[in-house]
Amino acid sequence: MKRILVLSIMFLAASAAFCQETAKPNFVVISLDTFRADRLQAYGSKKSPAPNLDAFAKEAAVYVNSMTPSPVTLPAHGTLLTGCFPEKTGLFDNGVGVLSPGVKTMAEVLRESGYDTRAFIAADVLKARFGLSRGFAVYDDQVGSAKRRFGFQITDMAVAYMHGGKKGPFFLWAHYFDTHQPYLTPEDPPESVDGRYDRAVSYVDAQVKRLLDAVPPNTFVFIVSDHGEGLGDHGELTHGLLLYQPTVSVVVMAKGPGLKPSISKGFRSLADIAPTIYGKAGIQVPGLDGYPLDSEEKRSVPLSVLLPLNEYRWKPLFGASDGRYKWIRGDKTRLFDISGDPGETADISAMAPGEARKLKSLMSSYEAIRGRIDLASFSGLGYLTGTPSKDTQIDKMPDPESMLGVFRGIDEVKTLRENDKFADSVVRLRELVKKDPGNPSLLFALGDSLRHVDQLDEAVRWLDESLKFSPALVPAWISKALALLGKERKEEAILSLEKALAHDPDSIEAVNILAAACLDLDRPEKAFPLIENAIARGLADTDTYLMQGRIHLFQKKYEAAAGDFEKALLHSLDPRATRKAISDKYLLYGYEDYGLRYLNASVAMYPDYAPYYLTLGAFHIARENYPAALQFFEKALSCPMKDEDRKNVTEIVDELKKGIEMERNQK
Ligand SMILES: [Zn+2]
Repeated sequence: MKRILVLSIMFLAASAAFCQETAKPNFVVISLDTFRADRLQAYGSKKSPAPNLDAFAKEAAVYVNSMTPSPVTLPAHGTLLTGCFPEKTGLFDNGVGVLSPGVKTMAEVLRESGYDTRAFIAADVLKARFGLSRGFAVYDDQVGSAKRRFGFQITDMAVAYMHGGKKGPFFLWAHYFDTHQPYLTPEDPPESVDGRYDRAVSYVDAQVKRLLDAVPPNTFVFIVSDHGEGLGDHGELTHGLLLYQPTVSVVVMAKGPGLKPSISKGFRSLADIAPTIYGKAGIQVPGLDGYPLDSEEKRSVPLSVLLPLNEYRWKPLFGASDGRYKWIRGDKTRLFDISGDPGETADISAMAPGEARKLKSLMSSYEAIRGRIDLASFSGLGYLTGTPSKDTQIDKMPDPESMLGVFRGIDEVKTLRENDKFADSVVRLRELVKKDPGNPSLLFALGDSLRHVDQLDEAVRWLDESLKFSPALVPAWISKALALLGKERKEEAILSLEKALAHDPDSIEAVNILAAACLDLDRPEKAFPLIENAIARGLADTDTYLMQGRIHLFQKKYEAAAGDFEKALLHSLDPRATRKAISDKYLLYGYEDYGLRYLNASVAMYPDYAPYYLTLGAFHIARENYPAALQFFEKALSCPMKDEDRKNVTEIVDELKKGIEMERNQK
């Protein structure tokens, strides 16, 4: 009997193995946004900020000379997902265009072959509306108003999916954004730019490891980066401005059944992933620009970056590479021998060998691609975002290379603004605007920073100036609306928000602010459908649910409101602040008991969060219970707080003490 049992177990095991071998393989594509290839040992790193990716590389086919056709997220992923270069995908910059209908995504092709298809997206620049969602049964791009998600969120979703007992083969794309500026991880970032970058590298490395641990057998895993990060090389701190190796060189690694560990120096590009996957799935797809990774076909990659034009009104750059040579065309056309001179220090165009001269003819030109840029679909997304213009005379524009000083200034300003140092950013921006007065991104940043320091009239003036250059600049419309709301010019603010939504109907920020303004103006009939519609379309974020809760409280539907607030907390990246916002709503609509109970529960959870005590203090001041108010303001002072807030609260405490003293003396 025992022997039969053992035999039958052996038989079961054998048949399972047999099934696995004949079953269609799964495919997992992991794209690491803004991940510099030289952070991995296989690509030359002496340190090891990414031990798990290094370990993966040891078991994978690694292509150390790989390139993206554009150092910008949307065009790079357009090529990754389709196997076609930007001239075919029609995607040249973030926020501009929709994937050409004639080009199929891997998800479309694989779905036709019976694959379940899933994408988990970490940044708004890859939102579904740009067309990369085509063919995905689920394309989860709900990044909310933070406009990005942490790696753990992407991994959690991907792991839940792979553990979820799905049937049949699957294609999964997981996008990680952690190594993108400002290199945020859920923990606090330290000081230096490079150090912070490597910290983000280590963070995303750990998150990818968690995903890899959940990958089932019979799966091909591709790990790529969409582009690198300058980190100061060639004067570029971030990416998307120049076409040098630190930003166009990418990670390309593949691991799966039958793939032997190897390190190849053959030239590859992001266009090679789709043909490789089609080959492994036994599917023929004609018209691709890439070749299977294991094919030694000679490749050349056209390079382009339009972001300088769209964001800053600077010259777009074009180029081409065959893995040995690289042309870059700006004011001058230069040639680099990237194998002999990887630092791209010497322009050898004067003595260009025949091979390189041939390559030169493969460079695109702005004139040639202008017709491929779909301006109508411009959505106002991007980094700081500009509006592309087809009529622009690019010859008269400055070469980005000559604007590096201003670009560094833009990066500094970005950091200042991200750290809430708006007054400092205004000083810096005034200097920068003098140097580059036609730059819509600078004009926007100046107006928006002025709004943050309450110089609202001047803010509106600069925001209007940015909109003159860039009429579809959604962040400028929103910022202008907020400035106008600050001036109690609500009707004008509503018009500005409607403009924002006309350019970007998915701007949940505009929806939330518009709904709040309508409620303030007692126009619930306008606010309700905005919120309902946003929730139905899957755009809702924490603020949307808070607003829905506010509407339900307004309608005296207390239980529905409590449900909304639960959802708001679920979507929240800062539960402490969300709990405070929820308490505020209860208090605002007269649910004092609920509000106080909620606040006290929040205090118990986060006893060091000053805003709770400030609310409680203000609540008691309104009821003229000064001793109780004093207690809460003093408690607030014992919590971490910004210097300016501390100054204000100290003043309140002093006033309260004086008042209480006087009252006592009068008695
Ligand atoms: Zn990117």
